[in-house]
Formats: sequence, C-alpha cells, structure tokens
Amino acid sequence: CLLQDMDAEVVDSNPYSRLMALQRMGIVANYERIREFSVAVVGIGGVGSVAAEMLTRCGIGRLLLYDYDTVELANMNRLFFRPEQVGMTKTDAAVQTLSGINPDVVLEASSYTMNITTVEGFDTFMSSLKKKTFCPNKESCGVDLVLSCVDNYEARMVVNQACNELNQTWMESGVSEDAVSGHIQLLIPGETACFACVPPLVVASGVDERTLKREGVCAASLPTTMGVVAGLLVQNTLKYLLKFGQVSRYLGYNALKDYFPTMEMKPNPQCSNSACLERQVQDRWNHFALPRYLGSI
Ligand code: ATP
Ligand code: ZN
Repeated sequence: CLLQDMDAEVVDSNPYSRLMALQRMGIVANYERIREFSVAVVGIGGVGSVAAEMLTRCGIGRLLLYDYDTVELANMNRLFFRPEQVGMTKTDAAVQTLSGINPDVVLEASSYTMNITTVEGFDTFMSSLKKKTFCPNKESCGVDLVLSCVDNYEARMVVNQACNELNQTWMESGVSEDAVSGHIQLLIPGETACFACVPPLVVASGVDERTLKREGVCAASLPTTMGVVAGLLVQNTLKYLLKFGQVSRYLGYNALKDYFPTMEMKPNPQCSNSACLERQVQDRWNHFALPRYLGSI
C-alpha cells in the first residue's frame, strides 16, 4: 500500500512523504486522516474531473463520481480527459485515469452514470450519499463532503435539495459562460445560505436559464479558469476536511482583474426550500441549546 512507510524522513520516490511534510511543518495536525474521508463529485467536466484528480493525488479515501455524459473531442480544451477516451462515459474514463494515478483510492462511479435530476437518478444519488460501505474508525459512514461541479441551475438545485434533506455540507462551484470568472461556495444546511436562499440573478429576474443558452452558439471555456476554480475548490476541501487555515464561505475569481471577492451569506428565513427552513430551525435550536450543566435537569 502506497500509504504505508510514511514516517520515513527522506523518501523522495514516495509521493506521500511530500504530503506528510505538511504535518512535520505544522500546517496539518494529522495528514493521514485524509484516507478516512469520502468525497462525492457531481459533474466530471472541466472542474469536477480536475478536482477528482487533485483529491486522488492527495490520497483521499473514497471518491463517488456522478455524470451522465460521454467524453467528446470538444472537451480537449480542458484538462484531464485524453483523445483516446472519446466515446467512453466520463465516469469510466475518470476511473481509468484515477486508478492508474493512485490505486489506493476507492472509486465508485460506474453505477453513477446517470442524470441526477430524474426521479430515479435522484433516488440513487440520495442513497449513495448515505451508503455505509466505507467507515474506518468513524461513526458517520456516508460521505464527508459533496462537491457540485455541474454547469446548470437545475442540477445545482437537485444537489441543494439532497444536501438539505440529508443535512449534508457541500461546496458549489461554477465558471461563467465567458470563461473569465468563477466561484466556489460552502453550503452548510441551516447555517449558511442554501442555493435556493439566494437565487442567481437570472432566476431572480424570472428569465428561464434555458432561453439564455443560444442554439448553436457554444459557451467559451478555458482550461486555465477551470483549473484555477478546481484548485480553489480542492484547497477549500482540504482545509475543511483536515481542519487547517480558514475555510472560505464564498470565494470568487475574476480573471480579467485578478480579483478574488469573498463574502458570507446567511440563510433566508423566506427560502422556498422547505428542507432548508427545517435546517434553519434546527440550527437556531443548536445555538440555544441548554448549557451542559443544565442539560441533566
Ligand atoms: P460544455 O457544456 O461546455 O460542452 P460540459 O458539458 O463538459 O461542457 P462542464 O462545465 O465542463 O460541461 O462540466 C459539467 C459536467 O456536469 C458535465 O460533464 C455534465 O455532463 C455534468 N452534468 C450536468 N448536469 C448533470 C446532471 N443533471 N446529472 C449528471 N451530470 C451532470
Ligand atoms: Zn435556503
């Protein structure tokens, strides 16, 4: 197993000794915990595939990969997929590449070649997040984090619904259609705004997103912007899982100005998502919980 022999001081041929140096240098208290975590990546496109590769190279325990699409030649302006993988499902192609990079990572993907917005897809998605197959030394056996790397509003709302129902923390990511800006966002049900609490501008103004996508006109895309957003997403994921540094609630990226706006968004008490409202009530109760010494009265 690649993850053994990690306390060797200088083992340059072992990639894990470079990761374990984070521990020796005091950045991360216990890097080895990375092997205990499960991360779900929804959408294995320009951002999701790169995020999955980064997590694989970091030695994550288990990855669940969801996508309904196949690899096309048009994807070659992004990172990760290769021309010889054209025609394969993105999930199969991802497993092929990722298992070659790090065979220690448990990869679950082939049964998740599906559309999460269908009734059947949503059910499979929900039960996969609760699945109890991987829980070394842990009480909670589902996934530790969901990363949304899809490119449409409908799919994001479905991830939002599932995570609100399951009380599952997740991170959302996106790259603009003109390819020169992007963002990542942390969503903790009841504690931060959910995806429905603060609808994106196009939705708030009542414009159907589908009418914005012009037939025959392809959106721009750059491997650079997608790579940067994937890097920000996985950096935030590592900080969240391994508990170091400050986890960003929202981090934007404007490539034209090299501007990285940050902000915090509170939940909306009038949110249209009922599961979000339930989580908000629960969160308020958690904050008003009796002090421990009164708890037994
Ligand atoms: P483009 O649309 O620009 O040609 P793309 O479809 O690969 O490229 P990306 O932004 O690179 O889009 O990645 C988004 C990924 O999310 C795609 O691989 C897409 O198949 C996947 N995706 C989007 N919606 C869903 C969904 N409802 N269920 C499963 N996967 C989805
Ligand atoms: Zn909400």
